[in-house]
Parts: sequence; C-alpha cells; structure tokens
Amino acid sequence: MTEWGYFIVLIICLGIAAKKVAVEPVFENHVNNDYIDNNDEIVLEVDDRNVQNNMVEKTLIKSQVYQGNLLLINSQYPVREESVKSDIVNLFKSKELKQRYKLNNRKIELSRDVAQKFSQLVQDARSEGVRNFTINSGFRGFDEQNRLYKEMGSNIAMPPGYSEHNAGLSLDVGSTKMKMIHAPEGEWIEKNAWKYGFILRYPKDKTDITGIQYEPWHIRYVGLPHSAIMQEKNIVLEEYLDYLKEEESVSVIVNGHKYTVYYYNISQACTVKVPTNTPFEISGNNMDGVIVTVSEQDVLNYVS
Ligand SMILES: [Zn+2]
Repeated sequence: MTEWGYFIVLIICLGIAAKKVAVEPVFENHVNNDYIDNNDEIVLEVDDRNVQNNMVEKTLIKSQVYQGNLLLINSQYPVREESVKSDIVNLFKSKELKQRYKLNNRKIELSRDVAQKFSQLVQDARSEGVRNFTINSGFRGFDEQNRLYKEMGSNIAMPPGYSEHNAGLSLDVGSTKMKMIHAPEGEWIEKNAWKYGFILRYPKDKTDITGIQYEPWHIRYVGLPHSAIMQEKNIVLEEYLDYLKEEESVSVIVNGHKYTVYYYNISQACTVKVPTNTPFEISGNNMDGVIVTVSEQDVLNYVS
C-alpha cells in the first residue's frame, strides 16, 4: 500500500484566470507519516497551453485517432483493426503476470501493459485481505466476438468490433466466492481501481449514457490521471472525452504528481504540442481527435 499511501490532491485547470475553486475531496486519503499534508482539498486551477514552455510541434497521422488507451468504444464508435493493442499476451503462459488471481480458462489474453497494472491492483487488494480475484474474460479477437455474438445473441453479446474486449483494454473480473455485485472484490474494484488506471466502464447510475446495463465486473484501462479525474467527477468515458474537448487543457495532481492533459481536434490540425524534456503519451479518442497527456513533475515535498 505504500505506493498509494500518499495524500491525494487533484488540481484541475479550468480556464485562464488564476482562480481557485475548492472541491470536496472524494478520495480516501491514506496517511503516510513521512508525508506532509499541506493540502487536503482538491483544487481546481488554471492553465493555458500557450504558456507552456519547452514544447515542440509534432505531426500526427490520422490513424493516431484510432490508437491508444483513451479510445471510446461503443455502439457508435467500433474498434478498428489498428486499434487492437499490440502487446496482447496469453495470461496462463505469462507466469510473471498471472500471479495471485485465477483464470476462468487457459486461453485468456490481454494487453501485457494492462495485465501488469491489474497484477499490481490484485497485490494491493490482497494486502487489505481481498484475495479471491479471477479474470473471466480478457481480449477477444474479432472472430471470437463473432462466435459469441452468434451463440449468445444481440441481447447479451456485442457484434465484432463493438466490444471493448476487442481492443485488449478491458477485462471481466470476478470473485471465486460469489457474484461480483455482492463480493468484497467488487466493492474493492469500485473504490480503488482508478488508482491503477482502471475505470468501472458501465456503472449503475450511467446506463442512460453508456447504453449498457450495470456491469460491476467489467473494468477498462485508461491510465492515470484519466481514471482519477473520472472517479473524482463521477463521469464515464463518454462524458470525460466531452469534458476534455470542452476544456482543451486540464491539469491535475494525483498522488503528488502533476499531469496536464490536452485535447486536439485532428480534423483542424495534424500537429500537436509535446514537451521536449518530460514524458508524454498520445492517445486517440476514436472519434475526432487526440489527447496528449504530459507527465510533468512531483509537486508535494517529503519531510524527513
Ligand atoms: Zn466485459
């Protein structure tokens, strides 16, 4: 738990004026005595992409819109061939990834990157006594999705390309003891999955937006800080991508680390600004643009 033992502060940039708005914290703060709590509120702050220093222009190609961890995948925006994660592995054969949880069958595959994040989640849940995780489904190729769709029908399965499982970013998590809706594993996921970059993709109170029934077992990887912002604002991926489009740039501090997230409409411009001296990630939204996530700096101070 030490990794998550830091105080969590979110700073979200909302405009140009340097106005600060305090928001009630929703995260459980795990106090680490080595850490100063000098700001136990969530603060919305200001940013402007034009004041960013050390940024250079990077030219993107259109296919970038359809690749990355932030793709919106639903009945309107299907998975394309180029959207499938390139690091798909068989979990049963990847002993270093398949630790401390069970697999529903030996064929389950998933993005290696996503599986690593899930392993970390399982390990930390275990340290809190939640230890009966199982993966019931992971990546499904288009052929397998087609077979499911034909076998189970359109009420239960999505046609090929229309399931998040087809991209390798989602997994169905279960408990070996009981249904997820009643299981400690389900409760733990709902409360903590965001810390590992996962979101509960189909929450109970958002079925009108997702168009999918409540699925306490289906988690989707989007990465940090996106999962933290969605958790804090209680919004699903559809709403989050709209929010980014509206704001254009958002800054956030998660666990003392600052990120800035920029949205670019690719129909208007095929260049984006990226930093020269800090790590960044680019993901398409599977609709009309890309999101550049810049990992900026640690902003809280340790004391001895
Ligand atoms: Zn699922």
